[in-house]
Amino acid sequence: MPENIYSRLYQAGDVIFRRGEPGDHAYFIERGAVDVIIEKEGDDVVIAKLGPGEIIGEMSMIDDAPRSADVIATAETELIVIQRSRVIKPLTSADPMMNLILRVVLTRFRNAQNRYSGLNVEGDKNNSSLEEIRAMAFQRIHDERDLISALEAQEFRMHYQPIISLETGKIAGFEALMRWEKSDGSFVSPGHFIPLAEHTGLIVELGRFALETSLGDQARFAEAFAKMNPSDTMPFMSTNVSGLQLSDLDEIDLIGGIINNSGVPLDQVKLEITETLMVENPDHAANALKKLKALGISLAIDDFGTGYSSLSYLHMFPLDTLKIDRAFVNSMDDTENSRRIVLSIVGLALALEMNIVAEGIETDAQQAKLQELGCHYGQGYHFAKPQSAEDALELINSGKSWQI
Ligand code: C2E
Ligand code: CA
Ligand code: CA
Repeated sequence: MPENIYSRLYQAGDVIFRRGEPGDHAYFIERGAVDVIIEKEGDDVVIAKLGPGEIIGEMSMIDDAPRSADVIATAETELIVIQRSRVIKPLTSADPMMNLILRVVLTRFRNAQNRYSGLNVEGDKNNSSLEEIRAMAFQRIHDERDLISALEAQEFRMHYQPIISLETGKIAGFEALMRWEKSDGSFVSPGHFIPLAEHTGLIVELGRFALETSLGDQARFAEAFAKMNPSDTMPFMSTNVSGLQLSDLDEIDLIGGIINNSGVPLDQVKLEITETLMVENPDHAANALKKLKALGISLAIDDFGTGYSSLSYLHMFPLDTLKIDRAFVNSMDDTENSRRIVLSIVGLALALEMNIVAEGIETDAQQAKLQELGCHYGQGYHFAKPQSAEDALELINSGKSWQI
């Protein structure tokens, strides 16, 4: 059995836990029966008799306070142990408001229990860990409200970062990156607002906006590019799609509708999807990606190497492009190991007939190494930063190419 799921056996009369003990686990009653006993004015009182399907010890496990009751087996009893780490991590990383509500309910319940036992009741405000959770939850709710008003006030824009062919030194495409420009002219980093939009579900709407806007701009970019470079392949537009946008297959139809309505030729449309989608739910991901691919567009796996994806199942997905994460490109300068990792990623991608984009190229040396290893495309500050559609158009019109 995995380390965090195992069971314990008790005989009638065995103590499962006592008041005051630390509460590191909860228990699921698989079979048998237990009494829950608290002290009331000096006497032991059975407050509950629980059996199969019930949970015990959950309160202390969640709020890390000492056990407030004794629990004793009254028949041969098998308990499945639920370890604290299994519950606390998803609880604290999921939704701070859920976490707050749970803790408040717990605190109030414990207070009611203490009142019943004739003990002093501490106000919820004196609990510092609860205060921290409360502050986080309020921060989150304010952030959510800001995000919704920003959407209404049309404060989101798309910027574009050129992707350069490492064979010709010319622009091969652009990645569309979202920007939030507040009314005071300051920018909020996507590293902050994208996860927030994902938590709140607003990413679906933001994702549609990103696709519509980037394809609208792509039509302008392609026209300008064709004038400057009549015999070259048209640049592609690579737009980020969150896994959450693909969790509902109907949304994929909507995405297809946006692409078709844009009038942009399908061989210029690429969507970037992170590994997380494929790691968390490979079967659904395979379906969703097949459906996207059937539209006739290209698909890229983003941030490759960061999401613990198993190399062995990459072939299950209809991917055209692999983007090597910036972290590998960065550390290539320092360690031979990183260079070897990049080399093996390149080998894998070539074997699967994918093309390769190296992200986050900042120096000449990195560019040279990646070229030598066989990467087809490069993206990074070394070539150009993400920029507004107007600046990107100017760049195209300047006919700029890079030394390769
Ligand atoms: P990403 O998809 O990996 O995008 C590349 C990020 O690396 C961008 O950060 C880009 O500005 C940055 N970058 C590019 N070249 C360099 C370089 O040479 N050095 C360094 N240090 N950074 C470089 P950005 O724009 O802050 O976006 C962060 C992340 O936010 C993106 O990472 C992506 O995951 C997410 N994101 C941005 N726009 C969207 C969007 O429209 N939809 C979704 N779902 N996610 C988005
Ligand atoms: Ca990306
Ligand atoms: Ca990336």
